[in-house]
Amino acid sequence: MAITSLTGMKDVLPVNQESWLFVDNWQRLEESMRRQGRLYGFREMRTPLLEMTELFARGVGDTTDVVTKEMYSFTDRGDRPITVRPELTAGLVRSFIEHKLYALPQPTKVFGIGPAFRYERPQAGRLRQHHQWSVEVFGSQDPATDAEVIQIGIDLASQLGLNGLTVHLNSIGCPVCRPDYREKLKDHFRPHLGELCPDCNERFDKNPLRILDCKVDRDKPFMATAPKSIDHLCDECRSHFDGVQRHLKSLDIPFEIDTGIVRGLDYYTKTVFEVIYPPLGAQSTVWGGGRYDGLVETLGGPPTPGIGFGMGLERVLLTLEKMGLALPPQPPLDAFIATIGDAARSAALPLAARLRRTGLSAELDVLGRSLKAQMKYADRLGARYVVILGDDELARGEAQVKDMAGSAQHQVALENLAPWIEGQKAAAEAWSAAGDRPETQPENGGTHRG
Ligand SMILES: [Zn+2]
Ligand SMILES: [Zn+2]
Repeated sequence: MAITSLTGMKDVLPVNQESWLFVDNWQRLEESMRRQGRLYGFREMRTPLLEMTELFARGVGDTTDVVTKEMYSFTDRGDRPITVRPELTAGLVRSFIEHKLYALPQPTKVFGIGPAFRYERPQAGRLRQHHQWSVEVFGSQDPATDAEVIQIGIDLASQLGLNGLTVHLNSIGCPVCRPDYREKLKDHFRPHLGELCPDCNERFDKNPLRILDCKVDRDKPFMATAPKSIDHLCDECRSHFDGVQRHLKSLDIPFEIDTGIVRGLDYYTKTVFEVIYPPLGAQSTVWGGGRYDGLVETLGGPPTPGIGFGMGLERVLLTLEKMGLALPPQPPLDAFIATIGDAARSAALPLAARLRRTGLSAELDVLGRSLKAQMKYADRLGARYVVILGDDELARGEAQVKDMAGSAQHQVALENLAPWIEGQKAAAEAWSAAGDRPETQPENGGTHRG
């Protein structure tokens, strides 16, 4: 019996069966994320998949669903409690502290791209291995940083074709104003304890803010009348929240205040946000994040403000698929070398190697197909040119080159093959940039040397 993949874990494939699982789209998206990071002054950081369990218990919060119900935790052979990361931020913070990056000129702007693991219930259709672009800024409390962190994601989405996003914004206060707000929340929920789910009864003492985020109790009537954090902010939080809004306006980023957003993780302070794409309907949140000014200190570092977000790659790719938006395709194969005869077959491998060394992609037949079958296969591979090599041509040091986009066939000297293909490509690009393309490319082997 064949072994299958685990529930909630997907293979990303080299063929386009489902576009959100097609590797070309993953590569395109990751390239866009890295490019976007570079434009905004972020550096990539790569941290291990495995961390001490305590990092997440302390960093993510031991009352969150993620930590209490969803982590892949185990004891390793050295009897250490280990967890496969359920998100990337905690590991990035751990590394920031461990390598004393706070001693460098601040802020530290970093991002990570990679998998995270949560034991989600399969009926919710959620993945147990998903991938995140985790973008973080350490060392700036300036509300301009909050706006910049929101903007980097909005810019990325709009480059992918997701326009018309709305930012839902909230502030959940700080250690100065939150204790008072917590008491107000407890006063509000105390008469309803019997109606709240068992989890919320536990949250009531440990972290009543979490109750606002409960998926079970969300629609109960006393939820809508709960006190709002933005009505209980201290002066500093209030002016910070005003600042974030001012900066978003200056960037023309549409936003609305949404007091229902508390986010699923304990470490957030002040700004929390979710980015909504209305055409998606009910499940319209594409990504979210927020500020975590106490997290670095909680994990043993010096007091350092921080803000960031995690964007799910699957979520973005599924959204693009759902909206019928395609990422730009990978460049086609430059040349397929089709051969007739034994001498030509032996010459194909070094010829392909020569083309590849000049930066042209090249493929050749290794299954001994007929010429007709080779042409068909070349077409399937999306080859731009097919180099037809027979024993006679080989003896003369020449090949027939067929332009697969038209009907033209050219006689080209083998030693000029690479520059000839480069020249044809450049000419075709120039034509397509001019919005026109002739039926037959200008002919003349070797004269387009660039
Ligand atoms: Zn405050
Ligand atoms: Zn509940």
